[in-house]
Amino acid sequence: MVKSSIYSYTLQELEDYFLGIHEKAFKAKQLYRWLYDKKINSYDEITDMKKSVLDLIKKDLPLLKIELVEVERDYDVNKYLFKLYDCEYIEAVLMRHDYGFSICVSSQVGCNMGCKFCESGRRKKVRNLEVYEMVTQLLLVEEDMNDKITHVVVMGIGEPFDNYDSVLNFLKIINSSYGLQIGSRHITVSTCGIVPKIYQFMEEPYQFNLAISLHAPSNELREELMPINKVYKIEDVLSAVKCYIKKTNRRVTFEYILLKDKNDSEECALLLVKLLKGINCYVNLIPYNETESIQLARSKMFKIMKFYDILKKNKISVTIRREFGSKISAACGQLRSKKEEL
Ligand code: SAH
Repeated sequence: MVKSSIYSYTLQELEDYFLGIHEKAFKAKQLYRWLYDKKINSYDEITDMKKSVLDLIKKDLPLLKIELVEVERDYDVNKYLFKLYDCEYIEAVLMRHDYGFSICVSSQVGCNMGCKFCESGRRKKVRNLEVYEMVTQLLLVEEDMNDKITHVVVMGIGEPFDNYDSVLNFLKIINSSYGLQIGSRHITVSTCGIVPKIYQFMEEPYQFNLAISLHAPSNELREELMPINKVYKIEDVLSAVKCYIKKTNRRVTFEYILLKDKNDSEECALLLVKLLKGINCYVNLIPYNETESIQLARSKMFKIMKFYDILKKNKISVTIRREFGSKISAACGQLRSKKEEL
């Protein structure tokens, strides 16, 4: 199979390509180095392959990337807007930490999950991103900042487990020791809780991290905020998570956005404790990034602290997410929405 861009090929697929044109499989590793280490912009830069092979590669494997159209910069965060081949837009956010740079990548154009608090979910899924459209988010951001990305979270626009195969190939490419060499423990996939895919994910031979967007401690409330809960209930998600932990021995993150007078009461905190007691996890409390078009508000700081204290006192590991770029429309989907209003 020939793909629309070289950046969609996993190493294994590229090896198969070379075998298919009667060349040695190791050429795939050679080519990966040119793409992800030397970061060529033209096949003419390759010096260690014969012309006949290069001619074939040029024909079969286009060096196609998405297009970077806008960057909003702040001191610890950059927000990138990209244009795709069909004039759709997606975003990525780069965050500076003391331990390195993390990037939040998008996995779909639009999203079908319809979470009530989420800006990107206001637009139905248009299509899945192709593998190269995820890989080249990283390449273009690294080029822009002239440094190496050390951590990746698949938490931008889209539901990664609704684009499972391409997301997994994307992760293989960026994780490859011949590719961008991002350690699997530095890679996190965040899902709203598509249960069968959680089971599939735990069977993969990789050490990627899993984060679950929980956001409510009861089915009633979760259903109101996240329609996916009508299909996969909290207890189904938690059973899958327990199974994942047993199988992989890895700790899972639960994300919990705090929404004023919705899910930020003491009662909610206590229910959450009850749900998560005994699970090897930690909770990431997220101060809500308000957006103009959604009538939900951020909890007051004292409420957030109270919620945090209740979890802490009950021995649930918990952090409050450090905030990046609320000034620069970094809540996912906001930059794209602005673009489309223009
Ligand atoms: N679909 C996946 C990944 C994309 S959303 C998922 O649901 O996990 C990534 C995270 O950002 C989720 O936890 C989501 O709930 C959260 N999020 C969405 N809109 C937000 C906002 N306005 N403020 C803060 N967090 C938000």
